[in-house]
Amino acid sequence: MSIKHIGDAVRTGRAAHAYIIDGEKGMGKKMLSAAFAKALLCEKPAEEREDGEPCGVCHSCIMAESGNHPDLIYVTHEKQGSISVDEIRIQVVNDVLIKPYSSARKIYIIPDACLMTAEAQNALLKTLEEPPSYITIFLLADNREMLLPTIVSRAVCLSMRALKTEDIISYLQREKGLSPYETETAAYFARGNLGKAMLLAEDEDFGELFEEVMKVLSGVREMTDVMIYEAASAAAGFKEKKDEYLGILMLWFRDVLYLKSGGDREKVVFLNRLHETELSAERYSYEQLGCIIEAIKTAGSRMKSNVNPEYTYEMLFTAMR
Ligand SMILES: [Zn+2]
Repeated sequence: MSIKHIGDAVRTGRAAHAYIIDGEKGMGKKMLSAAFAKALLCEKPAEEREDGEPCGVCHSCIMAESGNHPDLIYVTHEKQGSISVDEIRIQVVNDVLIKPYSSARKIYIIPDACLMTAEAQNALLKTLEEPPSYITIFLLADNREMLLPTIVSRAVCLSMRALKTEDIISYLQREKGLSPYETETAAYFARGNLGKAMLLAEDEDFGELFEEVMKVLSGVREMTDVMIYEAASAAAGFKEKKDEYLGILMLWFRDVLYLKSGGDREKVVFLNRLHETELSAERYSYEQLGCIIEAIKTAGSRMKSNVNPEYTYEMLFTAMR
């Protein structure tokens, strides 16, 4: 996806009638669609604005900023897991027939567009087939594969790409005033997802969790049964963080395997722990690494089917030993 595309669309006044902005949670889909909408609605002539950016001071920009713009509609839904056909009919299909109140355009943003039922998508499709000239619809999707191909084919798709880890680290330090210690691990773990990195960096438990995992990793081969049991209890104590716990282990052992197979040192995920990763690469055989990665996967599916976490970690650490 390119910011340039947005700038061009705004400058030439030729925005598409539908955009799909896709990318996993936390990648900034909402932020991007809001900025795009604001730029399209801004009252200052586009050629007088730098890169088509919204001026930020006109009546329209102020209304958009405060969330009270009559021509900027966020589609809402009542049921948690789905957007119904009635909701799409009332908020979009019928609403597009009413001309904009104060702008040249009317903009619809559908967050979680993947939640639209097939019926709702079909209703929306009718609007996309013959859209009034003044509308632009943004569909925000975690995964655009979940949308009907007929919808996808009528929209311009903008994919949110992962950011570089070093950009995330400097952003978090500059904008959030976080220390290198707080940001690095979170940024590596988030793998290009700024929203996720931000959440993790500000979450004290995550730092603690990471250190705990590192302790297990460095000592597991010398652990007695009792020590394994204790480590499993400690791991099970991070109740809400099971996915992160196993996620760190998985990325760690992938790094180890990657280095062992002669992979590029610059490309390991936990660059801040390169030395330990290299040591592990020397210590474990290919076969052992294969077994460990399988064991982490098994632990993941056990957790999902609600097997006792303590027991699950115990099995996993035993396999790692
Ligand atoms: Zn403006």
